[in-house]
Amino acid sequence: MRPQVLFPLFASVTSLPGVGPRFGKLIERLAGPHVADLLWHRPSGVIDRRFRPKIAEAPAGAVATLTVVVDAHIRPYNPRAPYRVRCRDETGYLHLVYFHVKGDYLERLLPVGATRVVSGKIEHFNNEIQITHPDHVVDLEAAKSLPEVEPIYPLTEGLPLRTLQRAITAALGRVPSLMEWCEPTLRAQRQWPSWNDAVRALHAPKTEADLLPDNVARQRLAYDELLANQLAVALLRAHTRRLPGRSLRAPGLLREKATAALPYQLTHSQRQALAEIAGDMMAPQRMLRLLQGDVGSGKTVVALMAMLDAVEAGTQAVLMAPTEILARQHHATLAALAAPAGVEVALLTGREKGRARTALLAGLAEGSVKIMVGTHALIEPEVVFRDLGLAVIDEQHRFGVEQRAALSAKGKGVDILAMTATPIPRTLMLAAYGDMEHSRLTEKPAGRKPVTTRALPLERLDEVVAAIDRALAGGARVYWVCPLVEDSEQTDLAAATERCDYLRERFGPRVGLVHGRMKGAEKDRVMAQFGEGEIALLVATTVIEVGVDVPEATVMVIEHAERFGLAQLHQLRGRIGRGDKPSACLLVYAQPLGETAKQRLAILRETEDGFRIAEEDLRLRGAGEVLGTRQSGLPEFKLADLAVHADLLAIARDDARLVLHRDAELTGERGRALRVLLYLFERDAAARYLRSG
Ligand code: ADP
Ligand code: MG
Repeated sequence: MRPQVLFPLFASVTSLPGVGPRFGKLIERLAGPHVADLLWHRPSGVIDRRFRPKIAEAPAGAVATLTVVVDAHIRPYNPRAPYRVRCRDETGYLHLVYFHVKGDYLERLLPVGATRVVSGKIEHFNNEIQITHPDHVVDLEAAKSLPEVEPIYPLTEGLPLRTLQRAITAALGRVPSLMEWCEPTLRAQRQWPSWNDAVRALHAPKTEADLLPDNVARQRLAYDELLANQLAVALLRAHTRRLPGRSLRAPGLLREKATAALPYQLTHSQRQALAEIAGDMMAPQRMLRLLQGDVGSGKTVVALMAMLDAVEAGTQAVLMAPTEILARQHHATLAALAAPAGVEVALLTGREKGRARTALLAGLAEGSVKIMVGTHALIEPEVVFRDLGLAVIDEQHRFGVEQRAALSAKGKGVDILAMTATPIPRTLMLAAYGDMEHSRLTEKPAGRKPVTTRALPLERLDEVVAAIDRALAGGARVYWVCPLVEDSEQTDLAAATERCDYLRERFGPRVGLVHGRMKGAEKDRVMAQFGEGEIALLVATTVIEVGVDVPEATVMVIEHAERFGLAQLHQLRGRIGRGDKPSACLLVYAQPLGETAKQRLAILRETEDGFRIAEEDLRLRGAGEVLGTRQSGLPEFKLADLAVHADLLAIARDDARLVLHRDAELTGERGRALRVLLYLFERDAAARYLRSG
């Protein structure tokens, strides 16, 4: 249960003064539903109000704080025109400009003859000096407590900065004093403030430099967040370890038969992964291993061999895929591969119905069905195995924790092999899975030719077109990728259509177009034409990124390559170089090229290794954006930025391990403080694995 000391932080944001249901919704969308979420909402900038010029010296565009005397109110004739208040000092006039004024509040705020301190952005307009909607208008007494430097925050439509600032100030007022959980030597060495001071400092930046992730207060808070994460991961693992597993022993006869029938040799990394998996399956603990490898790296055959081992050990195996299409594809592949070993593979999706389905389920329950492939239809209650030994989960991040758990609950001590085509950088692996065992397929299957990658400026488009001309004449099939233009699909499409017209003029009717607005069937038709060669040059928006396989395609032009992220470029390029012919990728960019874009293109020219590219992507972009954290199933951090704080993550891991080694149930003094930390970062689920104390 959440410790009482944290209750104020987990109250709803609407419990803060000035936050009603309307602002409450907006704040919830922006930061989160709880008071604590506001603490983690970091400032994005500072407004420095220390500049105090005379009116005549106030330059346009500057934020200035001026002491003035109110001279006159100039009401508009037309209600849509602004209401103006003329003020002065000994050097000239300053107009305060207000739109949509209601009632008499300006007369009360700015009585004629009164002295006021006003602060806001200076504008020069029609030879007048003015401030539109000043940020502050106060009397001399109140001016003493005017903030000199104010944080500004990311906002959302309809939520004024002032309201958010007040809510955050109120949230800071609710911060309880908590027992120190940070290891004292580390804290001293890094000169970190206490948690309390750090939270306050986070919201009181004095300069832009204070906003950087290496600021000490931010470092301390990032560390806290990472420590909570690593403790949670470690607790979860310790819990899983305690669950009974089983030892699946197989001499490997089935596997040998299947291997002998393969039309290729397994790569070194496939063999290594298999050895690691077999080791885990043989061990008495439950296996929990992640198999990582780019699309096309050959994960399926590895999964099959593991499943054959499970069958040979006398149990059943299952493979769950996220979509119907993938499940069918896997079924076809696996059935063919398993046939030489004399093992049949069954398929269960939402489409298997009626008598066939009943028979299938009966076979599964009595044990005559040894290997089953399917979608989440597999986790329905009526699916019962006689003895499930191994569960393989393809594209594991596309399933929720509960779905994965439901599948493994279909047997006792089921070994789990999770697979992902998203190369996860090592640092992020640690954050997401702690030290979870993982195997990596790092080589491309033999016979694949590397892709030659070149980068050219848009000015040399002629050369690109000439190269395409030669390639088409040689019978090649070509992708021409047009980028997302801004956020609008409309302009996006316009650009692609225009490029298609241009290329048609040049190369005639063998040029086709595929884009995201097309209906599924239409898209399939165009793709099929490309597959058959009826279309030789396919202009595409980024829709081709997902699930396209035309091995004959050997050339790819990526227009405005500078607009794509590294991972995206890598995914796109992965569409070529799938056959046995050499392939080429031309990255066409618009000048001038920014420093990061330059580095991205350089990395792509250098390597096709998805893991290296993912690491570089992390370095260049920051963890939050790598591959879209959400889709890769990685945790999102509010305070930690793994591109910068990776060293802290490693320290947090060691710290978490050491602490749990000494005090597994977190009942000591530091242990109890760490429990609070877990709840503070909403690791309630992990905290529940602790015996109450
Ligand atoms: P993934 O699931 O990792 O995206 P697949 O398992 O679908 O990749 O394999 C991609 C292709 O590579 C398949 O056509 C498969 O037959 C082939 N393949 C797998 N391993 C090898 C290998 N060692 N040598 C040659 N081809 C291989
Ligand atoms: Mg696959």
